Amino acid sequence: MKKVKVMSVIGTRPEGIKMVPVIKALQNDPMIESVFVNTGQHKDQLDQVLNLFSVTPDYDLGIMKNKPNLEQIIATILIELSKILDKEKPDIVLVHGDTATTLAGAQAAFFRQIPVGHVEAGLRTFEKYSPFPEEMNRQVVGKYTTLHFAATEANKRNLLAEMVKEDEIFVVGNTVIDALIDVSSKKLEIPPHIKSIIDSPYRTILLTTHRRENLEELNDVYKAVNHLIKEYNDIQIVFPIHKNPAVRSIVSSSLHKNSRIHLLEPLDYYVFSQVMNCSHFIITDSGGIQEEAPALKKPVLVARKSTERIEGVNAGTLKLVGTNTEAIIKESKKLLNDSSYYQSFFQNKNPYGDGKTSEKIVSVIKNYFSS
Ligand code: UDP
Repeated sequence: MKKVKVMSVIGTRPEGIKMVPVIKALQNDPMIESVFVNTGQHKDQLDQVLNLFSVTPDYDLGIMKNKPNLEQIIATILIELSKILDKEKPDIVLVHGDTATTLAGAQAAFFRQIPVGHVEAGLRTFEKYSPFPEEMNRQVVGKYTTLHFAATEANKRNLLAEMVKEDEIFVVGNTVIDALIDVSSKKLEIPPHIKSIIDSPYRTILLTTHRRENLEELNDVYKAVNHLIKEYNDIQIVFPIHKNPAVRSIVSSSLHKNSRIHLLEPLDYYVFSQVMNCSHFIITDSGGIQEEAPALKKPVLVARKSTERIEGVNAGTLKLVGTNTEAIIKESKKLLNDSSYYQSFFQNKNPYGDGKTSEKIVSVIKNYFSS
C-alpha cells in the first residue's frame, strides 16, 4: 500500500506542546510519510519545545523576521505554505487549535483541495470575541476541515450543532495528556533559581495571564494577587510573564514588589510542568493549562469570562472566576483555608483522556486513506 503523506503545520508553543506527540507518532509509523512545517509564529518558545522533545522541522518559514502584524502573518503563511504544498503534495494537512497558523494553514490546504485534519476540534465559547481572535479562527477552520479530532463528547456536540457530519468527527481525547506524560518521564536539570522556589516551604500559587481580551482587566487580577500576598505570609506567587509587551507593562505598573512574588521569563515546558506539579493551585487565563491541571490534580481558578473547557468545570477541577478582584480573592481564600473544599476540586477523573490520543489520530488517518 502507498504511504499516506501527512503534513503537520504548527507555529506556536501551545501547538508545539500538543502536536509534538502527534508528529512523533506519525514519524514512527511505517505507513506514513511525515512532513513537518514550522511557521515560526512563536519562534523561541516553540524551538524550546522542539528541542525538549528532539523533533526537527522539515521546513521553517521564519515568518516573524520583520515583526509582522496579524494580517501580514496570515498572508505570509498563505503564500509560503502554498509553495510547499505544491512541492510536497501531501494527502492531508494537519493543523491544531485556533491560532493564525491554524487558520492560514487550513486555508492554504483548502485552496489546493487538500483535506484538512483539525486536532482539538470543536472547542467553542460561541462568543465571537472571546477568546479573540481564537474563537473565530477555530470556527472558520472547522468549515475547512474533513477530519475533526475532538477531545471530548462535548466538543463533538458543538460540531454537530454546526452541522458537521457525524462520521467526520472522532472523539480521541487531548494530546496535551500525551505530552504531559512524556515530559513527566524526563529527568532534566532545573535552573537553581527555580529549584529554590520549588523547594521553598511556601505554598505556591502559579499565575499566568496573556489573553488579549483580558488586557483591560488584568489590573483587577493583579490587585487580587497583591491582596493575597499581604494577607497570607505562607504563600508565594510564581508568575512566568508572557512576552506580550502590553501584559508586561500592566504587570510592572500593577503588581507590588514582594520577595514572595517571583516574576519570571516564560519557562520551558519541562520546568513549567515541574512548577505546575509543586503548586497548591493555579490562577490562569490559559487554555492548555486548564487541560493539564486536572491530570496533575491541581485546582484552577480560570480568570476569564467564559471557558470552552466546560468538562473541567463539570468535573470540578476548574472554577470560572472571571477577572473580578473580589471573586478571585474569595475563591483563593477558600482554597487556602478549607482543605475539604480543596479536595473537592479533583474527585472525578481527568476528562481529557489517557495519553493515547496521538496514536488514535494516526490510526484514524490511516483508516481514512485505506477505505
Ligand atoms: N507553558 C509553558 N511555559 C510557561 C507557560 C505555559 O511551557 O511559562 C505551557 C503550558 O504548560 C501549556 C501551554 O504552555 O501547555 C499553554 O500555553 P498558553 O497558555 O500560552 O496558550 P493557550 O493554551 O492559552 O493557547
